[in-house]
Amino acid sequence: MIEDHAMSKDCIFCKISSGQMNTEFVYEDDQCVVFNDIHPKAKTHLLIVAKRHLPSLADAQDSDAELLSHMLLVAKNVAADKKLKGYKVQIHTGREGGQEVFHIHYHLMSPF
Ligand code: AMP
Ligand code: ZN
Repeated sequence: MIEDHAMSKDCIFCKISSGQMNTEFVYEDDQCVVFNDIHPKAKTHLLIVAKRHLPSLADAQDSDAELLSHMLLVAKNVAADKKLKGYKVQIHTGREGGQEVFHIHYHLMSPF
């Protein structure tokens, strides 16, 4: 069965990315939003969150290539806008990979 990944009722990142939580977005477009991590692990710690409920990188299909590369370029553009001299982009994947929120997101972290 093909799951409908458009929205998951109890998913915090579905609620945030659809604007239900009044979260302040650093950036937003039709595919993703960017906001501050609630428990920052670096001076700059942003999350790039898809608007579509894809649970994990491990669930990605070939048809998700455009979304995944788009989110990577959004991370780069936000980092450039913030004039970050250097940064890391991380994707925690699976419970054993440290993933806590099962809705695809990239961490953008920088000491600057
Ligand atoms: P992970 O699934 O391991 O990539 O971690 C999820 C990240 O989301 C953690 O760094 C949390 O601090 C962050 N997080 C969870 N809930 C919220 C929230 N409501 N607003 C902002 N960040 C959150
Ligand atoms: Zn979701």
